[in-house]
Amino acid sequence: MRKYNLGIDIGGTSIKIGLFNLDDDLLDVWNVKTNKHSNGSLILADIANSIKTKIDVSEIRALGFGVPGPVSKNIIYSCVNLGWGQKDIVKEIKQLLNDENLLVRVGNDANLAAAGEIYKGVASGYINAFMVTLGTGIGGGVIIDGRVVDGINGVAGEIGHTHIDDIHNLECNCGKKGCLETVASATGIVRLAKEYLKLSDRPSKLRKFEYFSAKIVIDLAKAGDELAKEIISKSMEYLAKVLAKVTYIINPDIFIIGGGISNAGNFIIKEIEKHYYPLVKPFINHTNFSIATLGNQAGMFGACYLIK
Ligand SMILES: [Zn+2]
Repeated sequence: MRKYNLGIDIGGTSIKIGLFNLDDDLLDVWNVKTNKHSNGSLILADIANSIKTKIDVSEIRALGFGVPGPVSKNIIYSCVNLGWGQKDIVKEIKQLLNDENLLVRVGNDANLAAAGEIYKGVASGYINAFMVTLGTGIGGGVIIDGRVVDGINGVAGEIGHTHIDDIHNLECNCGKKGCLETVASATGIVRLAKEYLKLSDRPSKLRKFEYFSAKIVIDLAKAGDELAKEIISKSMEYLAKVLAKVTYIINPDIFIIGGGISNAGNFIIKEIEKHYYPLVKPFINHTNFSIATLGNQAGMFGACYLIK
């Protein structure tokens, strides 16, 4: 009897597998190391083998996959971190598990993090949401009417590569300059801080550090260091400008803020709101901004949401 769903989040270092019953209860979670040798060609076999050690394949109803790359209509365009080019994992996993009748769906991890928060997290009960993940890079996920929006090229929601900064014009991993990611991700905050330190000799405790993280900049800003406050404010101004544009396009019920930077909690939300509201007036007096609650399990829950 088919009585289980699996939500599988494939990351660059580990794969998180969640086992759910058909009532959406999470029964078990385990991790599998991501084997990136030979262009990640063993990753799906590792997942299939790991599942077989836990349950009988005939008991699986569906599998949802989250992957770190653009996806459209269940086809992966590329996952640079995994060594994958274009890939049809629906077909491959059905072969590996030797079951043609399995329901398999695939989504981008940032989109699925948003889906996870709607399914079991802070956005539970909402049907239109935009999630921004502020980590090493910036990911974005769009949910409209309860559905994950991929976009025809799989880049819907990828606001990290929106051009926003002409002043510092820092180079982005994508090859362009001045992307939001270069000034508002964790690495972006550090890069922006270095620019500020270089361009003036204003005093700041930041100058004591040879190396510093975004968390240090945020902690100093919270403690009242004027230059650090200005850096965070500027960084969140860039983000708020992009979120205001998102508002004018899809006007979501809720903005969910996730990723490492979201650990700064209300401090970061207040900084975003400060710059956001002047950009959406007089049409909007209130928008829900919430910190994500599922952490690194969001993608796994979102992958299960995809097959509901
Ligand atoms: Zn970029």
